[in-house]
Amino acid sequence: MKNDKIWLSSPHMGGEEMKYAQEAYDTNWVAPLGPNVDAFEEDIANFLNVCHVSALSSGTGALHLALVLLNVKPGDEVIVQSFTFAASVNPISYLGAKPILIDSERKTWNMCPDALVKAIEDRLSKGKKPKAIIPVHLYGMPAQMDRIAEIADHYAIPVIEDAAEALGSKLKGIKLGTWGKLGFLSFNGNKIITTSGGGALVSKDKQLIDKSRFLATQARDQAPHYEHSQIGYNYRLSNILAGIGRGQMKVLQERVRQRRQINKWYRSILNIQPGLTFQSEPSDDYYSNYWLTAMTLDPNQTGGIGREALRLALEEKNIEARPLWKPMHLQPIFNNCPFYSTGVSEQLFNQGLCLPSGSNMNQEDLGCIEGVLNRVLSLSLVDGKI
Ligand SMILES: *Cc1c(COP(=O)(O)O)cnc(C)c1O
Repeated sequence: MKNDKIWLSSPHMGGEEMKYAQEAYDTNWVAPLGPNVDAFEEDIANFLNVCHVSALSSGTGALHLALVLLNVKPGDEVIVQSFTFAASVNPISYLGAKPILIDSERKTWNMCPDALVKAIEDRLSKGKKPKAIIPVHLYGMPAQMDRIAEIADHYAIPVIEDAAEALGSKLKGIKLGTWGKLGFLSFNGNKIITTSGGGALVSKDKQLIDKSRFLATQARDQAPHYEHSQIGYNYRLSNILAGIGRGQMKVLQERVRQRRQINKWYRSILNIQPGLTFQSEPSDDYYSNYWLTAMTLDPNQTGGIGREALRLALEEKNIEARPLWKPMHLQPIFNNCPFYSTGVSEQLFNQGLCLPSGSNMNQEDLGCIEGVLNRVLSLSLVDGKI
């Protein structure tokens, strides 16, 4: 009998995290600045190539600062993917700006470039030029950034990539987070690597990142006393937590490999089943970290088994699975926002489920999951050893 819960995605330490955290403690760098913060930023910059990085207290805070850096003001409009976690949209509201929601396309499940063009044209015709575009790389899958970047360039609107779930993913060999004018990452507890809580803002533009550090430390002007000519924030990452981040960066590549292996394993045991569709890389240009393995179940083809039936069956065995993100245009708080529909995200929400994808699951865990999938979907199983 197995009593431990199998989580959707739980923290997975690499072993060196405590060494750096202890160093911070021993040298009394117990503050939201210090050697670990600097080194963690450098590790991320090296991993992403050609990027400047500021380590922050959350991904949400990083997006908030990105919008401030792009001068988003009350009454402005900001374009964002509807099919996402609320944190992709909330910071727009913090600034009194208005979210313009864009539906997804079927290939990557992310922002539809055609709907994006329609939205921009429509907003322009109403006399409003959007201040930014926020595509999201859901579950690690790259959005069609090449097309989105082209559209953004054409209309001269800056892109902020929400790469919170996509550290280690690539499109056409270019790491996600570095396609846009700005990008942000999250190191929350359930992400592919974690600092327990944390985030980062990344850009090729050094000035923007320098400015983000200034804003994140209460916007203190150069003076012997505390002088302020701008509104500031307290958004820097703790030097202790950055130590955890340094340890986690050492195992990032391994974590990506493990998540992709888990995704492959699910496919090996489920692909033969009609009515199941995985979120999949549309071509060799796409490389997902497969942070979470996500699929849809069409009850018309699975003998009536929908995503709720499967979710509840897993829950009964203490295994966490979660419906796909409920789109923002369906959320009570955002359902008044302009929305440019393709119909895709509603169908994904109705039929989709995220399966347990933590890199620290063992053979026994996988066996439990496989047992439930087998029972519920009555699979003719192939031998799917991971
Ligand atoms: C986790 C997440 C965020 C927010 O990051 P935090 O570090 O938790 O604030 C934003 N967008 C997406 C898509 C996320 O999954």
